[in-house]
Amino acid sequence: MTAASLSRFLRPDQCAIRLVESQEIGIVGVGEATVPHIRFFNQTLGLDEADFMRKTHATFKLGIEFVDWARLGDSYIHPFGEYGREFRGVKFHHCWNRLRLAGDPQPLDDYSLPILAAKRARFAPPSMDPGSPVAAFGYAFQFDATLFAPYLRAYAEKRGVRRTEGRVVDVALRGTDGFIESLTLASGEKIEGDLFIDCSGFFGLLTEKSLHTGYEDWTHWLPCDRAVAVPCESFGPLLPYTRATARTAGWQWRIPLQHRTGNGYVYSSKFVSDDEAAATLMKNLDGKALAEPRLLRFVTGRRKKTWNRNCVAVGLAGGFVEPLESTSIYLIQAAITHLIELFPDRNYDALNIDEYNRVMDVEFERVRDFIVLHYHATERDDTPLWNYVRTMPIPDSLAYKMELFRERGVVVNYKLGLFYEPSWVAVYVGQRVLPKRFDPLLDDTPLDELRRHVGGVSAAALAAAESMPTHAEFIAGYVRAVR
Ligand SMILES: Cc1cc2nc3c(=O)[nH]c(=O)nc-3n(C[C@H](O)[C@H](O)[C@H](O)COP(=O)(O)OP(=O)(O)OC[C@H]3O[C@@H](n4cnc5c(N)ncnc54)[C@H](O)[C@@H]3O)c2cc1C
Repeated sequence: MTAASLSRFLRPDQCAIRLVESQEIGIVGVGEATVPHIRFFNQTLGLDEADFMRKTHATFKLGIEFVDWARLGDSYIHPFGEYGREFRGVKFHHCWNRLRLAGDPQPLDDYSLPILAAKRARFAPPSMDPGSPVAAFGYAFQFDATLFAPYLRAYAEKRGVRRTEGRVVDVALRGTDGFIESLTLASGEKIEGDLFIDCSGFFGLLTEKSLHTGYEDWTHWLPCDRAVAVPCESFGPLLPYTRATARTAGWQWRIPLQHRTGNGYVYSSKFVSDDEAAATLMKNLDGKALAEPRLLRFVTGRRKKTWNRNCVAVGLAGGFVEPLESTSIYLIQAAITHLIELFPDRNYDALNIDEYNRVMDVEFERVRDFIVLHYHATERDDTPLWNYVRTMPIPDSLAYKMELFRERGVVVNYKLGLFYEPSWVAVYVGQRVLPKRFDPLLDDTPLDELRRHVGGVSAAALAAAESMPTHAEFIAGYVRAVR
């Protein structure tokens, strides 16, 4: 992603880009679900959507279903799109909340087109007409990460990136200031450079092994530190969403692709053994396993400085927040965007580096708070993991956000970072963090008038969802992937 983007945005007469990868080491290869921003990434590169989907066996994603999170038996979808329509300038979730407090039982999910479509395994892209009832949603993709990387490699090479297959065995630092001077490969080749982008995954080969940047560990807030992953055969209708099912010591993902389903159990090694986690995963697959389960270890957190001296750590080298909301690929995208915005000259202005680190810290922290919310806002007390997360102290920034929503139904507003109001509303309500009050502008509105408004919204959303083709039909027509 980084080489492809830089080759698109930097002029070849100003910058020569080298990419070093090692097939012997390989890639982590498990990032399969994304958030809608990936479409912007693809568009800025000028990728053809159908071609990209065909080459990576991608499916569409309208959101994530959370099963058993707040209570055993609960299920809700975090959709990529807004709920309902405002009523006289008042946000829809306040209208819904006013009726809920008056005793109306209709779930918030009924007012979201992407949720209604997802539940029916249907998909059609949003209308480009902002006034249309089928405009106010977005979508992302679920794809085979092991195919996306070579797809982008080919893109980058076409735009002049020189790729070298080889293992970095040594990193030389400049005596004067400790900046990285060159890399040495196992072949003996020495590669010099001005700016080094560490995309070496959990190794943190440059940023940590050479520059000793340091890591901020967030395991006390997000205790899952391992995952076991396995693909299985597809089963049943092709669903346009990811599912995250809470388990005894973590949660299990299910990501439907065109040719198979990706599965994994993300868990805390404090609360379950690796063997038990693998057995739980294998017992809960929809179809026949296509490989042996693969174990991955990680520490949730962030590099103390994602840009240190002349090294920018992108991807897992820069940090990792567990994949509950499919945010890592987004964070790669954010790192690249901010790097291009703040691209250095050879003077490496300290202020520029500080600004990059500030915005990346904000990006990581916003994702972190959102993920912690899913764990902490639970009523589950049936296993040690759920007892721990329910009662643990949480970041002050999240405590403030939760309190404001619980008291007033207000979502803290921000411009930088991932997840805006509809996402927070979805997860608050889904996790049973319900507002005590509603917008006072609704005080004098007769309930019948409000009921007519929300009734119209849900009927329109339902009709739109029912009119969509099935996800499988849409993909077959749009992508015609060669299996
Ligand atoms: C369990 C799990 C589930 C995930 N699910 C999702 C998800 O659903 N959605 C999402 O957005 N993200 C997800 N992620 C994160 C996602 O997998 C990564 O963000 C993404 O794959 C990018 O990884 P990376 O390129 O940083 O590291 P890697 O894939 O590990 O790539 C590292 C690269 O560095 C090279 N390298 C390393 N050392 C050397 C060396 N010495 N010499 C030469 N080359 C070297 C390797 O060959 C490789 O090419 C998940 C991660 C995990 C662990």
